[in-house]
Amino acid sequence: MMDIRVELTKTPKEKPTDHTKLGFGDIFTDHMFLMNYKKGKGWYDPRIVPYGPLQLDPAAMILHYAQEVFEGMKAYCCEDGMIRLFRPQENFKRLNASNSHVCIPPVDEELVLEGLKKLIEIEKDWVPTAENTSLYIRPFIIATDAHLGVRPSNEYLFVIILSPVGAYYKEGLNPVKIYVETNYVRAVRGGLGMCKTSGNYAASLKAQVVANEQNYTQVLWLDGVERKYIEEVGTMNVFFRIGDEIVTPELRGSILPGITRKSTVELLRHWGYNVSERLISIQEVADAAKDGKLIEAFGTGTAAVISPIGHMKWGDVIMDINNGEIGEISQKLYDTITGIQWGKIEDPFGWTVDVCKK
Ligand SMILES: *Cc1c(COP(=O)(O)O)cnc(C)c1O
Repeated sequence: MMDIRVELTKTPKEKPTDHTKLGFGDIFTDHMFLMNYKKGKGWYDPRIVPYGPLQLDPAAMILHYAQEVFEGMKAYCCEDGMIRLFRPQENFKRLNASNSHVCIPPVDEELVLEGLKKLIEIEKDWVPTAENTSLYIRPFIIATDAHLGVRPSNEYLFVIILSPVGAYYKEGLNPVKIYVETNYVRAVRGGLGMCKTSGNYAASLKAQVVANEQNYTQVLWLDGVERKYIEEVGTMNVFFRIGDEIVTPELRGSILPGITRKSTVELLRHWGYNVSERLISIQEVADAAKDGKLIEAFGTGTAAVISPIGHMKWGDVIMDINNGEIGEISQKLYDTITGIQWGKIEDPFGWTVDVCKK
């Protein structure tokens, strides 16, 4: 494995002192991990350097054609003082899966995990300790070739930045209102829906703004071809408990394969629930709601972990779910996954990875 060079900052920033006031994604630590790629040479010079602006040629391909991938994960300061990651190998595996779809050369998953651990160790004083706070981790790769013709770049920059973030729920799990989007679509099969790549998020902004204007928290995306089958909720995967079946849309290429989704499916099966990954139409969910069979619904993702859905609007159809309250399975999943992440309960699946003592 390549050596990771370290250059420490001479001007460390002031760290936030009141962790209960932390928001999301606006404070960054003192250092970042960088690594370059050049065609013919491969990935080279993995290094940890002081955090700061990147120098880019105005013709850099990322700025014009969005050739980019990213990841989102967290490090948690556990009660025993150990800083841990949650299934980080899955994130770097997914990063390489995203890479392959947008023609970015794969990274060495072990090397970048090593780089991440080393970076967190250097920044361990930035890992917040207040209840439900964490260190958000954003690895990403951008195309840096200065070239305006449309083709894959010959040069790339891999970056990891870190941001201490506050509790997602300040006052306990809070059910959200969802707007079922029938006009705009996020992704189509054959496109890039299964990749964490920047263009998907640009495509999602308009619908999000329209939903917010109508006092809805998130958009529920339908498939881009028939506007019939359920895909995701905002930037979360989605689950419905209908009768004694728990259903989540199957991965057909237009849905992001969430690691929280995967963990949720594995946990539910471990507990003996009947879980299906299959096509599910919005009509089926509306019918279940009408018949009193829609028992609960929730989104899954790294940021919120579990986000209970209390209300959905699909055209004129209004669905109130579980009286707008948190469902039993949503609460059990939230308690178990966050319990494992913050080391409050045993991790029988080997999902957590030790980084260092705080
Ligand atoms: C990141 C993301 C998710 C959730 O993935 P996790 O690995 O669970 O955080 C779901 N949908 C979209 C569109 C995403 O970008």
